[in-house]
Parts: sequence; structure tokens; C-alpha cells
Amino acid sequence: MDYKKIITRVFNEVKAGENQGEVSGYIPELANMNPEMFGVYLTSLNHLEVGMGDCHEKFSIQSIAKVFSLTLAYRILGEKIWERLGVEPSGTAFNSLVQLETDKGIPRNPFINAGALVICDILISQLKNPKTEFLAFLRETTGNKELSYSEKIATAEKSVGYRNVALCNFIKSFGNIENNPEAVTDFYFHLCSIEMNCEELSKAFLFLANGGKTMHNNQPVVNTSQAKRINAIMQTCGFYDESGEFTFKVGLPGKSGIGGGIIAIHPGKYSIGVWSPRLNEKGNSHRGMKFLELLTTETKLSIF
Ligand code: GLN
Repeated sequence: MDYKKIITRVFNEVKAGENQGEVSGYIPELANMNPEMFGVYLTSLNHLEVGMGDCHEKFSIQSIAKVFSLTLAYRILGEKIWERLGVEPSGTAFNSLVQLETDKGIPRNPFINAGALVICDILISQLKNPKTEFLAFLRETTGNKELSYSEKIATAEKSVGYRNVALCNFIKSFGNIENNPEAVTDFYFHLCSIEMNCEELSKAFLFLANGGKTMHNNQPVVNTSQAKRINAIMQTCGFYDESGEFTFKVGLPGKSGIGGGIIAIHPGKYSIGVWSPRLNEKGNSHRGMKFLELLTTETKLSIF
């Protein structure tokens, strides 16, 4: 398979097409991104690396970080975490409050904001210094010591995060948040603030292509069954109410963020990071989705 040739062709085709959608505007740090940015980076298990365009520009990974927080909570608590949240696609927007009322404060899955807040609560209960220890986990998993929070973005998230504060308090009213909601949302806003480029993103997620083990030092991050399950949740819930569409068009487990980033995994083969800030109406990168759709079409390789 000549990935380099196919990626180059598909990248150029998508770049030449219309750059549709809007850049997220709720905080200046996202609103001020250059909408023309477009990067992709693939890392395969047999050490092939292909980068194109703005693949070395850092951006705010936003909700993609929810995969890392789920991974750490799952590694610490195992199947017990599923007493606090589900694994069903929500079919609603990422920040919706609606289902929590009838579901009695049990979020449908860990990738909607409600579920990510419960995961943050679990981590706060389990860790002495959650922010520091989470960052240490991220650096160890990725082999990248430079990764950090952006205090500027975390502060901006907090200044407009009324809906996340509402979600957290609402879940607490059902007894499914143990800690102080302010501490939980503070941790959540920091998660949203992590910055990476496409190459870092692609390398960071290789463990999910590799049965739960890191590539840089062959250490288990989670066990094989947990890696399978994290991939499964990415497949069914990684794109909010566009998860079915992403599965239909791309056919790989993936996760999007409102900064325009997408990570997609081909278990047993590769991990690919894509970034383009303009989002469709569901909050997923327009060019990112298009690129991945063409990539799996042209390579004739997806998990289906
Ligand atoms: N910071 C965003 C929020 O909490 C993250 C959402 C996302 O990337 N979809 O609303």
C-alpha cells in the first residue's frame, strides 16, 4: 500500500476543494485560528510516517483529550467506571443537558461533555494531584515531555463555560459527581486546553492501534480488551450526533475536537491526526471528515 502517494493525492484534492463551515467562535483562542490551516500526519505500526501541510502547527485538541481521560480512569478503576456512565451513542449535541433528566444523571457515554465531567470527577477522587498526574500520564503515554495545558485557553474556557458548569451541577444533583463541581469543571477546562500538532496527535494515539501498548517503549497503557473497548466507543460515540455518519463514510474509530482536530485509528495498522479549523454544523472538521472519507475509500481499507 503506497500510503504516501494516496495521502498526497487526497490531501491535495481536499485542499483544492471548497473550505466549508465555520471556525468555532466561543473563545478568542479558537476564533482567531487561521481557517486555512490544514494538516495531516499518519504513523503506522511498521514505522511509516507521512505528514502533509500544517502538520507541525499546534492547535487546541479540545474534546480529543476526552479519550486520554477515559483511558486513565479505565486503567485505574477498570469496569467499575461503567457504574457511573454508559457506552451508548447519545444522538444529541456534545453539550446537551436533555437526556440527563430522564437518565437520572448517568451520562450516555464518556465523550459527550456530561460523560467527560463524570470521568474528571472519577480522576479527582482517585488522584492526589489530578492535573499534574494526568499530565504525567499523558507525557508517559505519548513519550512527549513537552505536552502541557494552555492556561490561557483553560481560563478562556472557564470564563464562558456556563453550560459545562450547569451540566456538572445538574449531574451532582443526582449524586453522580462526588467532588466540588468547581474543581471538576476546572479539571475539565484544563483537559480542553491541551495543545498538540498532527504528528504528536498521531503518535500519542498509536497505543490504540497497537492493542493498548505504546510504540516508543512497548508498555501497556491499558489491556487489550480495554483498548478494544475504547476504540469501540470512539467508533460509536466519537463524533457526537454525527458518529453514525463518520462510521458510514470513514469506517474507523475516531474522535473529534471543536478546535478542528480529528484522530482516527486503524487498529493493527496506523493512527492518523488531521486538523482543519472550519467545522460543520455538528462541530466536526469539514476538511478532516472529507479527507478521512477519501483516505479509506482510496486505500480500500477500513475496519469494515
Ligand atoms: N471546550 C469545549 C466544550 O466543553 C469542548 C467541546 C468539543 O471539543 N466538542 O464545550
